[in-house]
Amino acid sequence: MTLPQSLDFSHLYSDETRARKSSPLKSCIHYFQDPKIAFLGGGLPLSKYFPWDSIVADSSLPSLTYGIETDLPNTGAREETCHVRLERNEITKGGDLKDIPLSRALQYGFGMGQPEFLSFVREHTQLVHKVRYSDWDVLATTGNTGSWESTLRIFCNKGDTILAEQYSFSSSIYAAEAQGINVFPVPLDEHGLIPERLEAILDNWNPKTKKPKLLYTVPTGQNPTGSSLSDNRKIEIYRIAQKHDLLILEDEPYYFLQMDHYQREATSRKVTHFKSQSEFLDSLAKSFISLDTDGRVIRMDSFSKVLAPGTRLGWLVASKKILRVYNQLHEMTIQNPSGFSQAIVAGTLNRWGQEGFLDWLLGLRREYSEKRDIAIDGLFKHLPKTPIFRINPPTAGMFFTITIDASAHPDFLTKYSSKPELVELAIYEKTIENGVLVIPGSWFKVSGNTEPPQPSEHKKGSNSNEIFFRGTFAAVDSDTLKNGVQRLGETLKQEFQL
Ligand code: PMP
Repeated sequence: MTLPQSLDFSHLYSDETRARKSSPLKSCIHYFQDPKIAFLGGGLPLSKYFPWDSIVADSSLPSLTYGIETDLPNTGAREETCHVRLERNEITKGGDLKDIPLSRALQYGFGMGQPEFLSFVREHTQLVHKVRYSDWDVLATTGNTGSWESTLRIFCNKGDTILAEQYSFSSSIYAAEAQGINVFPVPLDEHGLIPERLEAILDNWNPKTKKPKLLYTVPTGQNPTGSSLSDNRKIEIYRIAQKHDLLILEDEPYYFLQMDHYQREATSRKVTHFKSQSEFLDSLAKSFISLDTDGRVIRMDSFSKVLAPGTRLGWLVASKKILRVYNQLHEMTIQNPSGFSQAIVAGTLNRWGQEGFLDWLLGLRREYSEKRDIAIDGLFKHLPKTPIFRINPPTAGMFFTITIDASAHPDFLTKYSSKPELVELAIYEKTIENGVLVIPGSWFKVSGNTEPPQPSEHKKGSNSNEIFFRGTFAAVDSDTLKNGVQRLGETLKQEFQL
């Protein structure tokens, strides 16, 4: 089957992108690798002056037998270790395996990313998302924070409006606002962004204001609400994006932390054991990039939550036309993610292989499912059973939320003057006093508007006295987690005098 070519979205570029010329110096840097050329063209230090002769990086060797998917207690001693030794100069290892030599990893050049890194994430992307147009590719990034910052600069001018979930990852929202970009909220519920609300907002957009160019969304294990967008909603949202010529930015650091639904009864609880990796892949939520036939989706992937945040390594998936523009910006900003990071991560992943990486992700899924269950079990145990509190168990990611009816607080009408945000602040301070930290939902609220404003019904929410807190089960060990949710339960009990 021949796949279609992506569409041209250059009409959505920012003034900065239109003004940016590709650096002419970068156009000839590839000759540095050409042995026929005496390269006198650029300020590249000779690699023999790099102080590192070799780097050794040992890691686990994930497999269904020995990896973190094992039932054996994790003693820290692995039966097998993945041993990566990176050398200064290229040497051929057994089979097809090639490491990135340090002389190349630590040199200028390869702005899109090192080939050994790109080939792994390209193959992974095709395995997981089966992209439906022909001219897509991947680009190495420093993770999703940097990818988002680049995205804003590539597509948005000061005064533009973009759309985001009504509660969203505050760093992303603040990054946009700091660039003078207006972030307009789209309502969401426990199943993520609500397509009907998105369509109503765009269909009735105030014609005196510029229409939004892009939708920023965290579809899986959304930060902060923990909600996950259903496949059907994604199909609807994609249709709406086509209707309104909108780009979709899917920010997916939690994509592989998808779990089974929480079961209240521990006895009926079982973590799905997949018979094969293809069964695991089939179980995953459809991504926007897998639905995309136009090239209007830009997917931001990151190793932060599945390997380590300090790798500062991730990748973008988009059409080659769009990635070329990212590359041009990166030539003048980050150049490329750290060579150490690319070389160590590529060396590790190329030894694990695609299957080993999926095994690793399966193992993480299991670990996070257990931690999620500990947190939610504890909340059900320690929170008073009353409609004032609603516990929202997630099916993906690292976050749970508790929704609270602030108007049920005994001091709501008096001390807090019927203001839910004051109740939220009081609870926040009380939880810290009692030795537990959870984050007030209002910290994530998206509240931008245009001038002149959009019709007021666009922002109509549900119960205006509802507040929520975001907690994570990722950051601490199981005992601390148990203590934490107990303290949280006790604090709420005291506060609401129950
Ligand atoms: N996007 C979201 C939704 C996040 O929750 C986070 C991390 N908290 C990031 C991006 C940052 O990711 P990275 O480490 O890849 O920059």
